[in-house]
Amino acid sequence: MRTNKRFALLVSVLFFSFSILAQKSTLSYTVKMDNPEWHFFHVALSCKGIKKDFIDFKMPVWTPGYYQKLDFAKNLQQFKATDATGKELKWEKEGDNVWRVYSKNSDINLSYEIKTERPFVATPYVDETRAYILPAGVFLYIDKMIDHPVEIKVIPDEKWNRVATGLDSIAGKKFTYTAADFDILYDSPILVGNLEELAPFYIRGIKHRFIGYKLGDFDKEQFIVDLKRIVDAAVNVIGHIPYKSYTFIAIGPGPGGIEHLNNTTFGFNGTNFKNRETYVRTLHFLAHEYFHHYNVKRIRPIELGPFDYDKGSRTKMLWVSEGLSVYYEYMIVRRAGISTDAELLNAFRGNIVAFESKPGKRYQTLEQASYETWSDGPFGRTGDEVNKTISYYDKGPAVGMLFDFKIRQVTNNKRSLDDVMRFLYKEYYQKQKRGFTEEELRAAFENIAGTSMTDEYAYVTTTKEIDYPKYFTYAGLKIDTTTKILPAAYAGFTLRQKEDSVFIAAVDYESPAWNAGLRRGQLVQKINGEKASADLLNKTISAASPGNTISLTLYINDETKNVDIILDRKKDRPFIIATMGDPDPLQKQILESWLKG
Ligand SMILES: [Zn+2]
Repeated sequence: MRTNKRFALLVSVLFFSFSILAQKSTLSYTVKMDNPEWHFFHVALSCKGIKKDFIDFKMPVWTPGYYQKLDFAKNLQQFKATDATGKELKWEKEGDNVWRVYSKNSDINLSYEIKTERPFVATPYVDETRAYILPAGVFLYIDKMIDHPVEIKVIPDEKWNRVATGLDSIAGKKFTYTAADFDILYDSPILVGNLEELAPFYIRGIKHRFIGYKLGDFDKEQFIVDLKRIVDAAVNVIGHIPYKSYTFIAIGPGPGGIEHLNNTTFGFNGTNFKNRETYVRTLHFLAHEYFHHYNVKRIRPIELGPFDYDKGSRTKMLWVSEGLSVYYEYMIVRRAGISTDAELLNAFRGNIVAFESKPGKRYQTLEQASYETWSDGPFGRTGDEVNKTISYYDKGPAVGMLFDFKIRQVTNNKRSLDDVMRFLYKEYYQKQKRGFTEEELRAAFENIAGTSMTDEYAYVTTTKEIDYPKYFTYAGLKIDTTTKILPAAYAGFTLRQKEDSVFIAAVDYESPAWNAGLRRGQLVQKINGEKASADLLNKTISAASPGNTISLTLYINDETKNVDIILDRKKDRPFIIATMGDPDPLQKQILESWLKG
């Protein structure tokens, strides 16, 4: 007993000294952006109280949410390290993303510049109009000290007056923020400029803001009414709000969005909102990014936290994190009362057509697409290999639909996919404070369904052809999966003009053009003996009949080559989704509750 007591005393003394040490060390960044037209961030770090012979400062190789290596370290320049007296310290590169500073127990001041290249949601960028600080590409962390708190002071260019970020600000210090650790910092981009903020709204008493650069001209009042309905519908799926406030940060026109714990940053342009399709598509996109604060940030595969900033974090479950977020973006906008039933069904149809029309469905499973995205790219491989991959953004929502209908059918519409999401949130995020394994995910589906889901899981783990009608019937829906043979002549390729040359832009897999050996990027000189152009190709094919031949002159590897293509008819599967005329009571009930939530 005594030994134990003494041990406990020792532990508490040690703990006490560690906490004093921990309290003593501080990391404070200052980031400046003067002369923004030169596209540089000027970064300074004051690192105090970490007494070591040397310290390894590291730049992440990726930013969570964008599953690609981005090599941020290559844009770091003018690295300089000094001690507390201003004397320069020796440093050397220990790897592509590691700067080793021989600090010899002194405090350290670092300074460096980050060169920025293009405005994109997953890369830092600054120009004379605004600055987007993507933290994983700007701030170095100390090896094995990801958990260290950090302070960030932003010094905007003198023309700018606003900063938007999900970070907590420090009272009394202008544009100064704090993060409990580097995971929080890397999860909290910072937008600086003359920003516009729309009227905030409250859901369950919690504040939601929308702020951004160059939002465009649109009906902002109506937009906020709709966004509020969307957040409300998303919150109703899970039934709990885990953050103190939430900020939508629009970084300017352009594609892409990244989800974070209490904010999302995304490309945005409200100018074309008068077009209904554009408006609904944008709302789907925002619902997607918003729903991610549940699905992937909190309801997450076990591999996605703690993150591996050196190698990236691979998981076979992005079909849940991304695919089911697409599923929910449509459901949320419908349940918010904004999209119509026809718009909802048409959105799913879009994904089904995209998935079914690509040959990758015969080669790659959903799990493989998730795991291989690091090498394939978020939308699958390019070039010839594009045919061997699928996108989890397309197959994921289709599979989500089947899973939901299956659960509803076997439980007499007492349970649904929403119950699975709520269970994962409560059990793994709230209770166990971790991600789930593949086995736990499957058990969650099967426990809530109360039955085996082997048949449905085959759509995740194999390339089995999807039996849409079987599942759509459960919800009183029908889908046209028949193959139509279109009457017009079909070659299966398109051309692209680049300066004086004409290249093959795309070739449909196993089309007449593909079978004749045409591939993307080949240079086309002549079509039936005349100078090639996209116009001429269209005219030639419109005038031809199936069975006719067109002759191309290609220029490949410094040689001219003639290729004949025998035109055929195109096969097409429309996948139109519609409601059944005479649903039985259960089908009717499933459809109604599915649409309304
Ligand atoms: Zn996403």
